[in-house]
Amino acid sequence: MFPGGVHSPVRAFKSVDGPPIFIKKGKGCHITDVDNNEYIDFCCSWGPLILGHNHKAIRTTLNKNLKNGTSFGTPTALGNEIGKLLLKNHRYLDMVRFVSSGTEAVMSAIRLARGYTGKNKIIKFEGCYHGHVDSLLVKAGSGLATFGVSTSAGIPESFAKETIVLPLNDLAACEKVLKKNKDVAAIIIEPIPANNGLLLQNKSYLKGLRKLCDKYGALLIFDEVISGFRAGFEGASGHYNIKPDLITFGKIIGGGLPVGAFGGKEKIMKKVAPLGDVYQAGTLSANPLAISAGIATLKELLKKGFYSKLEDKTQYFVNLISKHIKTKKYKVRIQTIGSIFWFSFSNKRAITADDINPEKMSLFRKMHAELLNQGVYLGPSGYEVGFVSAAHDKKTLKKAAKLINAAFDKVMHK
Ligand SMILES: *Cc1c(COP(=O)(O)O)cnc(C)c1O
Repeated sequence: MFPGGVHSPVRAFKSVDGPPIFIKKGKGCHITDVDNNEYIDFCCSWGPLILGHNHKAIRTTLNKNLKNGTSFGTPTALGNEIGKLLLKNHRYLDMVRFVSSGTEAVMSAIRLARGYTGKNKIIKFEGCYHGHVDSLLVKAGSGLATFGVSTSAGIPESFAKETIVLPLNDLAACEKVLKKNKDVAAIIIEPIPANNGLLLQNKSYLKGLRKLCDKYGALLIFDEVISGFRAGFEGASGHYNIKPDLITFGKIIGGGLPVGAFGGKEKIMKKVAPLGDVYQAGTLSANPLAISAGIATLKELLKKGFYSKLEDKTQYFVNLISKHIKTKKYKVRIQTIGSIFWFSFSNKRAITADDINPEKMSLFRKMHAELLNQGVYLGPSGYEVGFVSAAHDKKTLKKAAKLINAAFDKVMHK
């Protein structure tokens, strides 16, 4: 009926054992499958559900706004409300445009960067994911600083060639390319790379990219589709105190409904149609229902102490596991920031894509199956990070940590 039975590839459980589970409902930090098995959820719909499942504030606003209809294709007061909320509370946003997914946000930001600079090439990094945008489904060719090779069929070689793929954490490689190639419109990076493990970068590296962009006349795009509103309200930009030229959003910004956005400096955003000549449009963009869910979410995030509470809980949870790992001397590390965590099957800090050993993913595969059995749901791939939501209480986190530790004992003892 559907290709691979799914509508997004990783849902098919190809990287873990067993058939995919079908979820019928979620509440707080739990999800329930169609066979009535309950799981403590650390996937949280891949990140959007920072408030947990079926949050009351979101349900209430959706019910209320639904009474007025679902879509008008005109500006709405809700659109203005979320705009004000964003601009007032995010130092690095002068203007913003709403779209319907993270991919769409990235695709539009790339077009804008090209339109604004009049240049064509994009630099991206191995180990960062930016949605299924043609020119970004690209990996490094052989040798450093070569033009990209597409990772998907259906992408013309000429598109892939517009992308230059570099390793993370290597400023010198980046400068070398910028020096040689005057046609770079933008550097795009997940400032907190969280789609291929959690490859936390050094602040000095990110600051270095900012400087290189200024020096060589390229724009710096922070893809904050995951990190936005996750690593604090201002995301990674605020966390590292770096002002990108453009920022892309998705996931949390829609509170579990399809919303994306891109925004940044006014002089750049003014190039977007109808104010400027970079075309961008969407029939359902800033859909009032989806936006109302976004507003309800952002308002919760802005409550005093929201992030400190969430991050304290995450630390509590992570510490319970890392203590166990240390005691048992397992070759595992938990890499974590804010309310994101990731199990790395190595003792060394993973900072580039090459630091991840694909052979170790068989350990995750076993962990995942064991935990599923025990009622803990992790994203179905060892490259996926876990999310703690505001709905995860300490008691449940303690229970989950115990089950995870027991799963490590089962998997690592051999
Ligand atoms: C999820 C993600 C995207 C793609 O967003 P979609 O809403 O799935 O299109 C892009 N960039 C990053 C960093 C993401 O995590």
